[in-house]
Amino acid sequence: MNINEIVVISGKGGTGKTTLTSCLVPYIESIVIADCDVDAPDLDILFNSKKEIIENFSGLDRAQLNKDKCITCGRCYEVCKFGAITKDIEFKEIKCEGCSVCEVVCPVGAIEMVKNKTGEVYMGDSKYGRMIHAKLIPGEEASGKLVAQVRQKAKKYAKENSIRNILVDGSPGIGCNVISSIMGSKKVIMVCEPTYSGLHDLERVYELVSNYPIEVFIVINKFDISLEMTGKIEEFAKNNGVKVNLKVPFDKRIVNSIVEKKIPSLKEKELFEKIGFFQFVKEIIK
Ligand code: SF4
Ligand code: SF4
Repeated sequence: MNINEIVVISGKGGTGKTTLTSCLVPYIESIVIADCDVDAPDLDILFNSKKEIIENFSGLDRAQLNKDKCITCGRCYEVCKFGAITKDIEFKEIKCEGCSVCEVVCPVGAIEMVKNKTGEVYMGDSKYGRMIHAKLIPGEEASGKLVAQVRQKAKKYAKENSIRNILVDGSPGIGCNVISSIMGSKKVIMVCEPTYSGLHDLERVYELVSNYPIEVFIVINKFDISLEMTGKIEEFAKNNGVKVNLKVPFDKRIVNSIVEKKIPSLKEKELFEKIGFFQFVKEIIK
């Protein structure tokens, strides 16, 4: 069975990406929801999924010193290029890049590379389907790997349970975690706002996505705060052979729904009908 994986991304956080994802969820039958915004995984707040940890996530290995063995020769301090070891042989875990050079040069085996837990992967059930999500420990990196792990779990679950669609709340930006969010997916929804920086972000994200054989959908959030910039985004889309598929207005009813932790497309169905949202849903699942 072919799984229809749809990823929602944006050039930066705060453009309405997660709100749009939440609006889509109730209208896609047979769905697994994957929250890959691992730095700010807030999709489950709206879906209230009961979550259980299924896996710890380890990013880079880190050097650990066994002080009892150390003869303070200073070799490790000399070779560490990342300033993770001080002259008096204190190890600064946060600066360690896991290169293992210190472990190799230590003459007495006083250094060991150890797995470093940087996040957790969760699975939970919501009213609309299984949710897979993850959280990176604040300040930790390597979220691209964590994103890949979330998508893998979502795919496995979908396959094992004959579920047709995976909806991914992708990572914002254009970093490695975004590449991890879109690689191998079939469809990407790019959410942007009608500002100069919004257009610039869209251009960067589009440049990234267009390197892969992925069908692109564009959504302009709060399109009516600048019809001029909305026009420029439409022009950009046209010049690149794609189109703006949905324009969401700035409407207090949507804001209020989010404040009340309600899904806007359920609470304000009439408004969403009017803007062509349900037609858009049909387009992305066909
Ligand atoms: S593993 Fe590399 S970065 Fe970490 S302390 Fe050793 S030499 Fe420095
Ligand atoms: S290389 Fe090994 S023995 Fe020498 S200072 Fe570093 S930890 Fe201690």
